Amino acid sequence: MGDLIYFKIYAGKAYGFGHLNRSIILYELLKDRYDVHFIVWGDEKAESILRSKNIPYIHSKSERYFLHLIKENSPHIVIMDCRDTKASHIIKIKPYTKVLAIDDLGSGSHYVDITIHSLPIPTLSTAQANFSGSDYLILSDDLLKHKRPRTQKKPFPRLLISFGGEDPYGLTEYTLRLIEEIPHHCQVDIVLGPLYKGSRELGSANIIVSPLNFYHILQESDLVITSFGMTIYEALVLDVPVITINPTNYHNDLGDQIDGIMNLGIGNEVNKSEILNGLSYFLSNKDNNWIRKEIVGDKSIKTGGDRRIVDIIEQLSVKRDDKCPVCHKPSRVFSRNKWINEYHCFHCYTFFRSSDYSYHEDYLDDYFTDQYRNQYGKTYLEDKEQINRFNQARLKVLNALVPLKDENPPLRLLEIGSAMGFFLELARDTGYNVTGCEISNYASDYAIKELNLNVLQGNFNESRFDRDKYDLIVAWYFIEHHKDFLATLDKIKSLLKKGGVLGLSTPNTHGTSFLNNPVKYISKIPKDHFIEFSPRSLSLLLKNEGFRVEKIVMTGLHFDRFTQWFGVSLPKYRWLKQFVLWVLKMIRFGDTFEIYARKL
Ligand SMILES: [Zn+2]
Repeated sequence: MGDLIYFKIYAGKAYGFGHLNRSIILYELLKDRYDVHFIVWGDEKAESILRSKNIPYIHSKSERYFLHLIKENSPHIVIMDCRDTKASHIIKIKPYTKVLAIDDLGSGSHYVDITIHSLPIPTLSTAQANFSGSDYLILSDDLLKHKRPRTQKKPFPRLLISFGGEDPYGLTEYTLRLIEEIPHHCQVDIVLGPLYKGSRELGSANIIVSPLNFYHILQESDLVITSFGMTIYEALVLDVPVITINPTNYHNDLGDQIDGIMNLGIGNEVNKSEILNGLSYFLSNKDNNWIRKEIVGDKSIKTGGDRRIVDIIEQLSVKRDDKCPVCHKPSRVFSRNKWINEYHCFHCYTFFRSSDYSYHEDYLDDYFTDQYRNQYGKTYLEDKEQINRFNQARLKVLNALVPLKDENPPLRLLEIGSAMGFFLELARDTGYNVTGCEISNYASDYAIKELNLNVLQGNFNESRFDRDKYDLIVAWYFIEHHKDFLATLDKIKSLLKKGGVLGLSTPNTHGTSFLNNPVKYISKIPKDHFIEFSPRSLSLLLKNEGFRVEKIVMTGLHFDRFTQWFGVSLPKYRWLKQFVLWVLKMIRFGDTFEIYARKL
């Protein structure tokens, strides 16, 4: 048997059978290659459907029992077909399995590996999808059997009204009353569901209750009036034009997002004349071909959504499980795009991307000129004075950790990513024996020719250096550019003497800017940052790699960002500003930081 896959679904009277039915379609496509089981939460009918199809299932009435199953059996993938998963629940199962969620709007959807939205989502929802759109709709074979070209022009167009199983808002009667006010020439069919409680005195309309051949009726119609739901898509597959009148704002919002239908709004007294106008535009004196052209246009629904989802399941089954690379715990997804997720770990605050992510930046000459000017208003060279203010402070810290004596030979310092050599120049003048490594030709040329420094032009990971030779190694804003940051750190460690000190500076993923607006912060992380740390996560990483953290310096402290964060405007008294910056420093909320660690 292949890898174990669980389908977790709710089914039964209270939830409907839509989730169960489409999961069964996927099951049929997966069962020969995987060991597929259903975990059902619902009533006896759901279970009898599964039994009748010989589908293995486990009844689970509690989340605790479900968690127990996951821990016991470690399924390869859990497919959640529930509209509203809970974050606390997904976080508990994530360490044991990969999770795929279909049409999930719950807080749990932020923690699953891959999400698919085949249906539109409410405008205000923050749920994101890796794959979305009607290309991922799972349509039943029975529906597809009814798909055939529509060419015949009937003398009396047929209009179908169908508002689902219960129609609790009475839209069937509402719509019929409006249609009676319009001169029309259609035959009106009304489909009522098993739970319909409204009046059955519906004039001259042809009433059909709970039909077994609904797709046939739909296919025979020239126009269907319904509200947001699967009937819309089924009609579009059969090329039947759709007009929607919705019970609530929620349904109307979703209806607005579907191409190729005429969404007339919410069916109430307030909108009555508008809906009446909309209906009469289509129902008076028009032939059905005109209606179809006017409403559907050239929009059509692609069939084969089930196979597209099965492809995704197969790819997910061989994909690496993305866990926080520092603490290895599950993390929250902040942005999704096909196979690439952007994560922020809520234990140690590391930012990272899916393992499949790759990006190449050439660090061409304009990185130090035009690109730098665009960001800071001047070139790197013109900014030397400001940059050296930081460099002076860094040297002071390093000097306190590894004091310069009148040693012969002098202490050796290596700077990785030495840019135009400003830090190396200061370090040399202070008395260190300095070496640099810089990938940019433009910057390393300047350091060598203008500042007379010993700089190796090239990629650090591909360059050769003496092992166990350096007393100090520094890399300012460097580590976050490395996909394989662990190998880079290993190499750095091998070059340091025992007792030598490593100095790094890097953005803080748990600083004021992140806390002020996490979504905005993460969306602005440069593409060439493969990882970003917090003081907590970088300390943890260095400790795991055999270093002892000796000092953390908070930088990037901004009074304005702090007041923005709290949404207050504070007077800019000098003492108040200094106090706020001191507090930010103490609680490590700077937007950047430096960390100094000794090799043990
Ligand atoms: Zn972590």
